[in-house]
Amino acid sequence: MCGIVGYVGDKACQQILVHSLKNLEYRGYDSAGIAVFEGDKLKTVKAKGKIDEGLVPRLLENGELKAVAGIGHTRWATHGEPSDINAHPHGNARVSIVHNGIIENYRKIKDFLIGNGYSFESQTDTETVAKLLDYHYNGNPLETIAATVSELEGAYSLGIIFREHKNKIYAVRKESPLIVGIGEGEMFIASDMTAILEYTKNYYLPEAGEIAEIDKNGVTFYDIHGNVIEKEIQTAQWDVTAAQKGGYEHFMLKEIHEQPAALKNTLTPRISDGMPSFEECGLTDEMLRNYRNVFIVGCGSAMHAGMVGKYVIEQIARTPVTVDIASEFKYRDPLITKDDLLIIISQSGETADTLSALRLGNSIGADTLAAVNVAGSSIDREAKMSVKTLAGPEISVCSTKAYMVQCAFMYMFAFRLAYARGKISAETCRDYTAKLLQLPDLIQECIDRKEQYQRVAAKLMNAVSLLYIGRGLDYALSMEGSLKLKEISYIHSESYAGGELKHGTISLIDDEMPVIAVATQTNLFAKTIANVEEVKARGAKVVLVCRDSAEVTADIADHFIRIPDTDDLLMPLVTAVPLQMTAYYTALDRECSIDTPRNLAKSVTVE
Ligand code: GLU
Repeated sequence: MCGIVGYVGDKACQQILVHSLKNLEYRGYDSAGIAVFEGDKLKTVKAKGKIDEGLVPRLLENGELKAVAGIGHTRWATHGEPSDINAHPHGNARVSIVHNGIIENYRKIKDFLIGNGYSFESQTDTETVAKLLDYHYNGNPLETIAATVSELEGAYSLGIIFREHKNKIYAVRKESPLIVGIGEGEMFIASDMTAILEYTKNYYLPEAGEIAEIDKNGVTFYDIHGNVIEKEIQTAQWDVTAAQKGGYEHFMLKEIHEQPAALKNTLTPRISDGMPSFEECGLTDEMLRNYRNVFIVGCGSAMHAGMVGKYVIEQIARTPVTVDIASEFKYRDPLITKDDLLIIISQSGETADTLSALRLGNSIGADTLAAVNVAGSSIDREAKMSVKTLAGPEISVCSTKAYMVQCAFMYMFAFRLAYARGKISAETCRDYTAKLLQLPDLIQECIDRKEQYQRVAAKLMNAVSLLYIGRGLDYALSMEGSLKLKEISYIHSESYAGGELKHGTISLIDDEMPVIAVATQTNLFAKTIANVEEVKARGAKVVLVCRDSAEVTADIADHFIRIPDTDDLLMPLVTAVPLQMTAYYTALDRECSIDTPRNLAKSVTVE
């Protein structure tokens, strides 16, 4: 959450900063701002709202800034409402900063600074860091920063400029992500690589506590005692076009269309001898045989991918799986031991709650296996074993292709686990794997059936509240379907296990509450249809999501979404697409801000 950027070079930096910030807007869009070296002064321009609606018009009023170095920020507010005053950068005539994270002891610092004559204009925790830098300032930025960060508790990545150190940027991090981009005669800082892919693919990854001193010719890293640190250059594998809309109206739609390729890219390199293999990260069959329990932890869609994983693993590998929401796992004193495997799922690899859960697993001595989409992210680096899901950058706040590849990872894991534990034969494992490899084509077929989703969306768009129901794997998947719809269309929606309805929730049903019934599992089909009858009898309009081959009479539901057939076990991967696209077209009909839904942000780096 929050995106920070910085540029120093020979070019006018205003456009570069604004452009890089726009690439990070998925991390927050409550306000945006930049601070630059203009003449002998620091000049700050900032405004509430999205970049194009707030900052850009304000910059136009001000006239083009001449500066060649500066810092920028796009905010997801944690402390203080979204407003001009609370927008970053924060500081005074001497120092200006942008911040991603939360300073937990900011009240104490603020009181101390007020006692020393400082005054504050914003409600943010960030302003206390800016003023603390000013308090410690002794003319030497490195000493000033070291003294300041030694007093901070919490999470931060900071971009800092000092008026007296013209065209230099300083950066430091703890917990929150930060990269230093390397150009030709120009340098960058950013929360992640998607901000600056147009300018460079090479970057450094600062570790916690390292201070970067950057000018146009390069960067020097120092530890907290002022010793120089050597670092290796990293190179991003992502192409710049992967982070652009490429003719689609929204990133979400583009990313839905990228799913067949994302799936192929994630599956193909991990298949050896016709079966999934995790040798690349050091996970052997012997290890898989010895784990006592499997824990899966994630947030939002990643946790939902874990739910699909649980059903598949328990069904075919007969191994107990506990799925947890990361923020709960950490604080509920989970029964995990060093004999267990903890699987951590995260798109960004920076999700604060998930990272904490990983650290808990590591500290207990459990084996930890991460599935992350961003190589070099904190979770990728800190997990004992890590598998990269190769979806490419996901920009839309609402996850689609990242969820798809997280599920695919879960299937590969389940197949290998079941095989290693002797629960399925090599032949069955190869058979499942072959079917998994056919899915990109089926998913493409689902994407091509867009008219049926548009038809259903037109019926749902005026609903105030609706229910998803399903059983077994259909239930696990419908959790994700429901989340998609509510997060981008703002229609209240819940998912329920079909059999659970009559234990309370069915009292909500009337002709104003549509029900989306997901019924792809052969052995549960009749049971789900019975639940459909129950809600229909109480007036609900029903959308039935079922296979092409399902035999149903036309009067069983009001609307149908048909899906190509595959093995029961694999149906969630195919069925995810209709649920995503129905949510997309419903939000489109309601004219919602699809890629940047209200109050949300991607890459949730605060707890
Ligand atoms: N705590 C800072 C603020 O509210 C930064 C928030 C963040 O990184 O999400 O402005």
